[in-house]
Amino acid sequence: MKDLKCNACGHIIKHDGSVFVEDALVVTKEWGYFSKKDGKRHRFCLCESCYDKMIENFNIPVDLEDVTEYM
Ligand SMILES: [Zn+2]
Repeated sequence: MKDLKCNACGHIIKHDGSVFVEDALVVTKEWGYFSKKDGKRHRFCLCESCYDKMIENFNIPVDLEDVTEYM
């Protein structure tokens, strides 16, 4: 299994060899015509602590909602 690294701090997201045992934000963005990055795909990962640091800087807090996980 390929290591997934946080782009901000380099932390390797923990896995047990087959599944991730730590959650992380993985973003894939294909930029379109009305951007300066038309045709480019950006992909990055943030560990939970870097995600928390990022959203702390938001002027408008993230929307929070409880979700039920069916295991
Ligand atoms: Zn990080």
